[in-house]
Amino acid sequence: MNTEMFRKNVPDTIITHQFGRRTVAQSYEYDHRNLAEKLSFVKLPPAASKVLPAGSAKELVGKMVVSGMALQSHLGQSFKRIQHESGDEAAFIYLAANADGFHVTPYGFCTNSFSVNPCTRHLKCFDQCKHFTASGVAEHRVTLEDLRSKLVAMRDAARCKPATTVGRKNQIAHAERLIAGVSAALHAQPNQSVFADGIDHSTLKEDIFK
Ligand code: SF4
Repeated sequence: MNTEMFRKNVPDTIITHQFGRRTVAQSYEYDHRNLAEKLSFVKLPPAASKVLPAGSAKELVGKMVVSGMALQSHLGQSFKRIQHESGDEAAFIYLAANADGFHVTPYGFCTNSFSVNPCTRHLKCFDQCKHFTASGVAEHRVTLEDLRSKLVAMRDAARCKPATTVGRKNQIAHAERLIAGVSAALHAQPNQSVFADGIDHSTLKEDIFK
């Protein structure tokens, strides 16, 4: 019933009240719509329909950008800039050419366009990546919870080492940073940017293989 009410576009505050919940976030825990369903209420302007075919992945990305879900991403920011400087038509043509980058990771959505830069830190979305958007999908929550358990075990193992052990402090700090990132992803609302002011992992400057 919770999901059906979301499908009918009933405001989340009313759904929350209907079920006697304390917070709106609790209602999203039981929202099992897929991404296309969540975006079905977003209407694109006429300039978009010429270049973003109905039902295509490009249209889906267009709706993510227009609805604000992917506005903080490289794609969303470039779209806004072009729209401001050159108008709707040019902005949607840009989107149509770059929208192929959207994809799903084991933890949520990635809103970066890989037609410009490959992601050098793939699968490190939870490590403060600004392109990471929470999905609220049950499978992603399971993956994140499993990951958090493993990271907590790693941190606790490092804590048990003698205080003079080389690298112990760094191991603990690293694990704690990742735990905080995974927790932030678990607490984020579906379709919300988890680290809006985070790191752009797609343009990592350092050589990660060093
Ligand atoms: S690390 Fe960032 S850029 Fe890479 S896949 Fe994850 S969200 Fe996308």
